[in-house]
Amino acid sequence: MSDITAPDITTIAICSTALGAIMCIAMLLSWFKDGRPGTRSWLFAPFGIAVPAGILLTYPDVLPGPWGLLLGWYFLTVVYGAAWTAARVLGGRRPQVMAVLLPCTAVLVFTATIGADSHMPDLRMLPRVLLFTAFNGLAAREFGRLRSPRLPSATTLYWIFTAFFLFDLARSPFSLWLAAPFGPKEPEVWSIALFNFLLVLEGSLLAMFVTALGREQQAEQNYRLASIDPLTGIGNRRALEERLNMLEQNAASAPGRQTVLAVLDIDHFKAVNDQMGHAFGDTVIAGAAKTAENVFGTGNVFRVGGEEFAAIIRAPDDEACIAQAETMRTRFAAHPHGSGPASRTCTISIGLARLDTAPDHGAAFKAADRALYMAKRLGRNKAIMLDSTPAEHMPPEPARLGEKPA
Ligand code: GH3
Ligand code: MG
Ligand code: MG
Repeated sequence: MSDITAPDITTIAICSTALGAIMCIAMLLSWFKDGRPGTRSWLFAPFGIAVPAGILLTYPDVLPGPWGLLLGWYFLTVVYGAAWTAARVLGGRRPQVMAVLLPCTAVLVFTATIGADSHMPDLRMLPRVLLFTAFNGLAAREFGRLRSPRLPSATTLYWIFTAFFLFDLARSPFSLWLAAPFGPKEPEVWSIALFNFLLVLEGSLLAMFVTALGREQQAEQNYRLASIDPLTGIGNRRALEERLNMLEQNAASAPGRQTVLAVLDIDHFKAVNDQMGHAFGDTVIAGAAKTAENVFGTGNVFRVGGEEFAAIIRAPDDEACIAQAETMRTRFAAHPHGSGPASRTCTISIGLARLDTAPDHGAAFKAADRALYMAKRLGRNKAIMLDSTPAEHMPPEPARLGEKPA
C-alpha cells in the first residue's frame, strides 16, 4: 500500500465523481424517455449534487481556508437527503426540502465551529455519519411503505437502504478514530477506495432499482386503469375475477361472516334506452353503480355487462345479505333519473348465492344467475337467494331462501 501515492487517491475520487455525473445524465435521459413522470422528478438530484461534492472533496483548495472540504461534506450530506426525498416522491409524498437542508446546515455549522475546536476530540465526522444513517433509514422506510407484490423493486430497495442504514449505524462510533473519509485522520488509499466504492455501489443500486420501480409503478397504474369501467368508475369483470380469486385464497380469514355473490340486472332496460335515449340509459347505469356502492361498500361492486353488475356482500348471515340487497333494490327504485318531465324511475332485479360454501366461484355465479332469472320470471324488481351447492346435491326444486315481493 505504501508505494501508492496521492495521485491514486485523486484518481479514485475523480472516477467516482465522474460516475455520479454519468448517472445523473442517465437518470435524466431515462426520465425524459418515460415521459417525465412526476414520481421520478427527484431521482437525478442525488447524482447531480454528488458532482460538486466530489469536486470539492477532491480539490478543496478551489475555495479559501477549510471551506472546500466543509462545503464538499455539506453537499455529500445533501446527496443522502436528496436520495430520501427521491424515495418520498416515488411513493407519491411531498418532498421535504427543509427537513433535508436544516440538519445538513446545522452539521455544517457544527463542523465549522465546535467540531473544529482543537481542544476537543475530533468530532467532525460523527454528525455527518449520523446524518447519512438517518437519511438511509428514512429512505428505507419510504421504500418499505411501497412494498407490494406488484412492485418487487420496492422490496429490493428497502433491503438495500436498510443494509446501508445498519452499516452506517455500526460504523458511526469508529468515525472518531478512522482515516478520512470514514473518520478525522489523514486519508489513506484503502479508506478512500472503500468509501468511494460504497458510494458508487449505493448510487448504482439506487439508479438501477429505482428505474425498475418507476416502470413497475407505471405498469401497475395501467393495470389498475384496465380494471376500471370508464362509465361508472367501478371495477370491471377483470377486477371482479381478481377479487374472487383473492377471496378464494383467503377463504378462512373472515370467521363469523359469510360472503354472498349478488348479480344485478336493470329491468326492461332496452325499453328505457328506446324511450329515453342511450345517454339517459348511461345515466341510469351510473346511478345503479352509485347506489350499489353506497349500499354494498366501495370496491365491492363491479360492472360485468351493459346494465349488469355483480356485488360481493359480507354479512353475518343470509338474512343480513338479503336485507342489503333489498336496501339496494328499494333505494334504486325510489330514485328518479334525469330531471323535470324527462325524469323517470327504473327497477332492478337481484340474484344472490353463497360464495363461501360454493365449490368454486363459477358455481356461485351459476346459482346467482339462476336466482336472477327467477326474479325476472316472477315479475322483476325482486331480490332472490338460491343455494349454491352443486346441482346433484340440490333438491328437485331450487330452495328459495329469501324472496321479497316488491
Ligand atoms: P330484462 O328486464 O329482462 O333485463 O330486460 P332488458 O331490456 O334489460 O334486457 P337486456 O339485458 O337484453 O337489455 C340490455 C340492453 O342494455 C341492451 C343494450 O342496448 C343496452 N346496453 C348495453 N350496454 C349499454 C350501455 O353502456 N349504455 C346504454 N345506454 N345501454 C346499454
Ligand atoms: Mg341484461
Ligand atoms: Mg336488463
